Amino acid sequence: ILEVNNVSKNYGSLYALADINMTVGDGKWLSIMGPSGSGKSTLMNIIGCMDKPTSGSVILDGQDITQLSLTDLTVIRRDKIGLIFQQFHLVPYLTALENVMLAQYYHSMVDEKEALNALERVGLHARAKHLPRQLSGGEQQRVCIARALINYPKLILADEPTGNLDEANESLVMNLLHQLHQEGSSIIVVTHSPEVAKHAETTVVLEHGKIAQIIDNLK
Ligand code: ATP
Ligand code: MG
Repeated sequence: ILEVNNVSKNYGSLYALADINMTVGDGKWLSIMGPSGSGKSTLMNIIGCMDKPTSGSVILDGQDITQLSLTDLTVIRRDKIGLIFQQFHLVPYLTALENVMLAQYYHSMVDEKEALNALERVGLHARAKHLPRQLSGGEQQRVCIARALINYPKLILADEPTGNLDEANESLVMNLLHQLHQEGSSIIVVTHSPEVAKHAETTVVLEHGKIAQIIDNLK
């Protein structure tokens, strides 16, 4: 499904990523670890069509997403990719339900019933009318997951999804990721936690913008 080919990203003389090659097969779960500044978020942003590499290509379903126009990118982001972040990026003055509906509004198909379904899947049906500040951190992250899964994306990208959560909420979020994985989504999770990383089939360790190690967690 996803191929990262010779991807480099530099800021002047700083190489945030240096010649990264990796493949994520259909339905695979990968985790990315590595020290702060090793290039994890840079790689996620490039795969998530939020940033372009300095060189190299990223092939998603046979299409080089580094070469697409903004309009085509919007379509890919909408139809194929679900994003989950450490900072939840919820709109503060919209309710949980409205935040989830926003993902659809983005492609002009606001459907309250579907958004409520998505909230139900993450166990927040009863919290639909609450504003983000009326929700706990774990609940806010689950709203983000509802927003990410509403379009049934083939690829889910999560950059430190449990970075701001306590253990109980971490396991809720990981259970949801397991559920999405069961349903056939490919998942890439960036994490500093070895425990979280182990949920994936494979862990890629980045150091100084390069792949330092690939760990098979199933062994
Ligand atoms: P963390 O674990 O702290 O989130 P990370 O592995 O996600 O770190 P990145 O955010 O990918 O690290 O950053 C990789 C390197 O690129 C860092 O040295 C960072 O300072 C640099 N960098 C990232 N974005 C920019 C930018 N817009 N301009 C200049 N340098 C940048
Ligand atoms: Mg980061």
